[in-house]
Amino acid sequence: MNIYLDIDGVLLANEENLAIGAAEFIQYAVEHFDVYWLTTHCMNGDPTHAIEYLDRASHQDLRPWLEEFKPVTWSLKKTEAIDFSQPFLWFDDDCFSGEKIDLQEHGVMDSWIEIDLRNVPDQMTKEMVTLQAFVNEK
Ligand SMILES: [Mg+2]
Repeated sequence: MNIYLDIDGVLLANEENLAIGAAEFIQYAVEHFDVYWLTTHCMNGDPTHAIEYLDRASHQDLRPWLEEFKPVTWSLKKTEAIDFSQPFLWFDDDCFSGEKIDLQEHGVMDSWIEIDLRNVPDQMTKEMVTLQAFVNEK
């Protein structure tokens, strides 16, 4: 299964702080799945900025894990970068109407996991349990 990760509002609670549980989520995801950036901070296939932007908000150096994330390219819709031939989970606080249409057309609306850190600040801790359930199912 592929994992696609947004940064703002998902891995970062705000510009200066990682979301609660995000460091553990990142490490667990990389150790068990193929993880892809899916963020405006990495749209052109170059992950340098995304890695720096995220790592500078972390007390712990997450580079060894962040460097395992695969970069993608897209321009208007994040769904351009999703490989619909493979099962996936996409963690994002926003999904625009055009992206929703693409998910619906492929019958994978459930693959988008809506993150809402305002209402559930420790949601990434809970989402790690979701990942663990997939690993334990194998
Ligand atoms: Mg976001």
